[in-house]
Amino acid sequence: MPFIYRDFIKSLHSISVPKIIGKTVLNFPIPMLSYAPAPCARRVLIVGAVHAREFITAPLALKLFKDYNKYGGSLSLHLVPMLNIDGVMLSRNGLNGVPICEKRKNFLREINKSSNFSLWKANINAVDINLNFNAGWGEGEGNLAYPAPSGFVGKCPESEPETRAVVRLMRHGNYDAVVAYHSKGEEVYYGFRSHEKHENKAKTFANYLGYTPKETPNSAGGLKDYFVQETNRLGLTVEVGSDLLPHPIEESELEPIYNAHKGSWDLLCNLLNEKHETINMKR
Ligand SMILES: [Zn+2]
Repeated sequence: MPFIYRDFIKSLHSISVPKIIGKTVLNFPIPMLSYAPAPCARRVLIVGAVHAREFITAPLALKLFKDYNKYGGSLSLHLVPMLNIDGVMLSRNGLNGVPICEKRKNFLREINKSSNFSLWKANINAVDINLNFNAGWGEGEGNLAYPAPSGFVGKCPESEPETRAVVRLMRHGNYDAVVAYHSKGEEVYYGFRSHEKHENKAKTFANYLGYTPKETPNSAGGLKDYFVQETNRLGLTVEVGSDLLPHPIEESELEPIYNAHKGSWDLLCNLLNEKHETINMKR
């Protein structure tokens, strides 16, 4: 199914009125949904679809957000369901389904070495947003210094408008935790270098999902890396979906993934309130 921006925005309005946190390279407003049960609630930022082909994380986060609204969870949430809107459009629709000029089409075709963009991860500038944050920028394993479908760190930290939009949120949001959803592999990455890891919280969260908790010694420039570096608070990268599923994970696979994640934000709330010893491990 092609990605239609207007339909995406309409689907958000059916939940609540989104706020715009910035614009993509192609000038599409990046929407954010908010849920605020009480002024003193723990604050969490949730980000989906940082990587283009991982668009399954947008409907997943939205489904969890809808649940959370319905039963009145205790966390205060900011949800950016799809950060890399241009990239998702490219991955889902192909070159002709993105409003770009011939020059950019040729640039992208040359980089991709194919007319099939379904495995594309970067934004429309061929920068990997999750390597573009100012946290050990350019020092990660496999980082590239030139445009590519994935792995290019950008010309400088925060060179991309999508990166800057989330950085602004993180600077002013006073979040207790940040969770970025990716696919795939059923893993939860935590920590950044020597900063506070919150290992027990990360492991309890991973355990609940049935995922493997992992430290990321060679990671740099990521959204989670930046948040952990700046705050020493809990930052998680959650890789949803079995490794057996091929990229990109289609929306038909949403239900079993959602079932694993159902209730996980309640657990997160308890972890942030440090009452996790009272929580049963699995539903
Ligand atoms: Zn990813």
